[in-house]
Formats: sequence, C-alpha cells, structure tokens
Amino acid sequence: MEILEYMEMEGHQQLAVWTDPAVGLRSFIAIHNTKLGPALGGTRIWLHKSEDEAIMDVLRLSKAMTYKNALAGLAHGGGKGLIMADARTQKTKAMMESYGRFVESLGGRYITTEDVGASAEDMQWIARTTQYVVGLPRESGGSGNPSDQTGFGVFQAMRACALDLWGETNLSGRTVAIQGYGNVATALIQHLETEGCRVVVTDVDDTKRQLAKSRGIEVVEPESILSYECDIFAPCALGGVLSLESIKDLHCEIICGAANNQLKEPLVAQALQNAGILYAPDFLVNAGGVINVSYEIGQVYDPEAARIRASRIFDTMSKVLAISNENKITATEAADQLANQKLEIARTEPK
Ligand code: NAD
Repeated sequence: MEILEYMEMEGHQQLAVWTDPAVGLRSFIAIHNTKLGPALGGTRIWLHKSEDEAIMDVLRLSKAMTYKNALAGLAHGGGKGLIMADARTQKTKAMMESYGRFVESLGGRYITTEDVGASAEDMQWIARTTQYVVGLPRESGGSGNPSDQTGFGVFQAMRACALDLWGETNLSGRTVAIQGYGNVATALIQHLETEGCRVVVTDVDDTKRQLAKSRGIEVVEPESILSYECDIFAPCALGGVLSLESIKDLHCEIICGAANNQLKEPLVAQALQNAGILYAPDFLVNAGGVINVSYEIGQVYDPEAARIRASRIFDTMSKVLAISNENKITATEAADQLANQKLEIARTEPK
C-alpha cells in the first residue's frame, strides 16, 4: 500500500523526515494524533532492511502510542521517532544532537524519550539541541529509569484481572511465571513477593538466571516458561511471544506482562479468549513507563504523583474488562474502544 493512503486510512497527521549526511543521520518522526495534546513517544534506533519498512514501523508505533497515552489518561497524543542506524556500532553523540534539532524543528508537536536502542545518556545529548525530550537521568532533573513504575503498573493490572476472574484483588498464594528477568520483572517481583505470590522466572541470559537464583527466586529454563503451570503468565522479555502455535502450550488463566507487542498477530487475542485465557492488552498494562516520563513535562518531576497515576491502571483495566464482558469482545478490542471514546470526546485540536 502507498504511504499516504496508509496514513489516511490509519488517521496519521504527519510524517517528517530529517537527514544529516555529515553525521550519518537518516531519521523519521511520525505523529499520529494530537487531539489529546502534543504527541509523546520514544525514539527507536534500529537498522531496518529498507526505508519502506522503517516508515511503516514508525507509523505503526506512533498509532500505538495514541492508544497507549489515551488509555493512560495522559494529555498527550501519539508519536514516535526512528533513527535508521545500528545502535551498537553507528550511534554517535553528534547524531543525537542533530536528531535533537529535528525534534526541535517540530516546535513541540512531538516530545521524545527512550525506546529500543536508545539510552538515558542519548536523551542527554538530544537535550542539548531540543527542549522537547524527557526520560533524562534523575541527576539531570529527569525522571530516571521508568521500570519501577512500569512494574508497579503491571502489578495493578494483574490485581484488576484477578478481581474480574477470581472475585478478589488479593494475589496471595497465586503462582506467577515471568519470562525475562530484566528491569521491569525485578520491580514487579518485589510487589508479588510482598503480596505473598509464588514467583517463577526465566531468562535467556544465564547471568540473569543466576542472579535470580542468588536472590532466592525459583528459576526455570527459558523453553519451559510458556508451558509452566501457573495462574498468571507475565511476558516481560520481547514481543511476539504469543502466536497461534505457542499459545497451545500455555497453562495459565491470565496473561499480564510488560513486553510490548506480545501478540504475534491480532487474531491471537480472540484465540486466547476462545481458550478461556484472559489476555490483558500490553499497551494498557505497561503504560507505567510513559506515565512516568510524562511527569517530567512542564513540571518538576514528582515520583509520587506519577505513582498515583500509574495506580489508576487498575481502574482502567477494570473498566476495559467490564466492557469486554458486557459486549463479549476481547479485552484488546475493549481497550481500543475505550481509547477511541476518549479521543472522540477530546474537543480541542491543540496544534
Ligand atoms: P530488559 O532488557 O531489562 O529485560 C528483558 C529481559 O528479557 C533481559 O534480561 C533479556 O535477557 C530477557 N529475554 C529476552 N528474550 C528472552 C526470551 N526469549 N526468554 C526469556 N528471557 C528473554 O527490559 P525491561 O526494561 O525489563 O522491559 C521488558 C519488556 O517490557 C520489553 O519488551 C520492553 O519493551 C517492555 N517495556 C518496558 C518498559 C520499561 O519501563 N522498562 C515500559 C514499557 C514496556
């Protein structure tokens, strides 16, 4: 499909391009929707196979941010940046500074932050040339690593799922199997342990598995996690883990985790529902991170205020599950419906 046709169909407002051969920069910023406020979303540094692939990716990701931000109750629309480069070998400070000029040129319609391939340090370089960047380290006045809030948000979403399915928010005695022992999982496990859950974790990285063991956490091999008998499966590693094939292995009642784009394809959501598994939409569950950085915008970062907002993931998840039950649709469809309602009632078009 042609790009403009795709943008019209999906409701995108803008696709901007910026090149700077002197620093090897080739980049795109997609702004999907600014009805709720300036677009907010990370910048991904990734070397796609082609320009077409990169453009489709940034457009798709920007639309997902509109829905994530709307559901999180933020006064922000959806946008995303993409730098076509190998983050390990081609990323330079000069490239980040030039990219900052690109962000600045949009005059605040798009506010950037970290995504795959980008670090808090990169944000500091970007901040030298634009004011429209968040996710800076705490020592630079930013909100620091968002993983604690993300883990807290996942825990809140799990409680809402538990209330819907088991009639109580208390997760005590439940078994939670977690794929990926990274930053978010570490934060999530603290809440689960305090609650009295049994936690089982895995990671493809042997040092992470050893670390989990040394902290007294039950560890299994990476290939056993999907079929592990548990109450809640929490994907906290990479996307695409739930396919029509892989879900046949599952032995859980709820899927609720932080990983982005967990469904390999949209129809997996319906297949999970048919199999009697409650799938909590990832873009609602993992919003704690974007909520956290949003509290850097136009104010002195206040972790407590961000935490209160992240705790509302419980209410939104409950609302989504009520819509899902009432209309006999998947929670993913219900979440889309709720986000669309929020977009429709937003009366102003800021910029
Ligand atoms: P991380 O890199 O700290 O941890 C991910 C872990 O998963 C790593 O230890 C990695 O070795 C492991 N892993 C990768 N593939 C695996 C596999 N197939 N099986 C088992 N383990 C595997 O990342 P994170 O910050 O904890 O984020 C986790 C997920 O949540 C990512 O998908 C991220 O995009 C998403 N997310 C994170 C945040 C945040 O605030 N950090 C916010 C929103 C979404």
